[in-house]
Amino acid sequence: MNQFRFSRRPDIGDKVRVSFEFFPPKSDEMEARLWDTVTRLEPLKPKFVSVTYGAGGSTRERTARTVKRILNETTLTPAAHMTCVDAARHEVDAVIQEFAGMGVTRFVALRGDPAEGVGASYRPHPDGYANGAELVGAMKGAGDFDISVSAYPEKHPESPDFATDFDMLKRKADNGATRAITQFFFDNDLYERYVERARRAGIYIPIVPGILPVHNFTQVANFSARCGALVPAWLAERFEGLQNDPQTHALVASAVAAEQVLDLVERGVGDFHFYTMNRADLVFAVCHMIGIRSHEAEAAGSAAA
Ligand code: FAD
Repeated sequence: MNQFRFSRRPDIGDKVRVSFEFFPPKSDEMEARLWDTVTRLEPLKPKFVSVTYGAGGSTRERTARTVKRILNETTLTPAAHMTCVDAARHEVDAVIQEFAGMGVTRFVALRGDPAEGVGASYRPHPDGYANGAELVGAMKGAGDFDISVSAYPEKHPESPDFATDFDMLKRKADNGATRAITQFFFDNDLYERYVERARRAGIYIPIVPGILPVHNFTQVANFSARCGALVPAWLAERFEGLQNDPQTHALVASAVAAEQVLDLVERGVGDFHFYTMNRADLVFAVCHMIGIRSHEAEAAGSAAA
């Protein structure tokens, strides 16, 4: 991949749209960091920003509080993540209504992982929605919402094969999902192949790549192993020896994420979802490189020209 190829494309920013994912903060300190991040990323005018939902609804109140604050204090459009783990249908329906009552029009609908964590075996609540597809159906019945769902370019770890995965994704699309957002990945060929196979399986909703800038390679490598995402040898090699050198780590991480995104743009991808980890810097830098800039930055650029 030759990065200089990309620098001849000053028009890229016109074609690219982004969304950002946050998680609800657990402490005052984390809350302050989240709001610094939101404030820094808001001028980039993302299509929406999503707020995750903890296992078994454990963050329900914090998710709702974060979504409410985004609605009340920013110009951003929030999307509330929801899962159906350990909840009866009427409880999930009540949460959908609670969000709708606040003015939420976008959701990210997920089955979720068992409260014991990724890898533990999933048992649906006896009166609950069994999977993401059933949850999408419930949301669609409750209102005219924009609904994102998950997709797994490297297969969901519980799924016996890709056919089972595509069957589930098709059910989610047929039940009214607007788009799918992928689990993060580092090999763009895998994503491209996945999208081609989805189209052949009759799935036509947009499949938006989820991009994870690598804030901490060791943590990402551990998490990837649990959720079935491959960490290519070349990626490990780029971060080798940088555990105690945060500045170089950040520079390398921003180069890696920009390279990935620019290559996807070259392949015709126009929408990106960033897993921000509630940190702005890497995402802001990558957005800058793909031409997504705040009006202030544009104005400063034209004044200097
Ligand atoms: P589904 O779409 O219902 O299923 C996913 C796949 O798993 C299916 O394709 C199917 O092949 C396979 N599968 C499911 N059940 C079975 C089974 N019983 N046997 C065999 N195969 C099975 N988690 C959270 O807790 N909170 C969040 O906010 C959150 N946000 C996420 C956002 C995105 C964009 C993504 C990609 C994931 C997110 N997750 C979140 C993680 C997600 O909850 C887990 O990956 C979970 O294991 C599956 O949820 P799902 O909605 O993808 O499941």
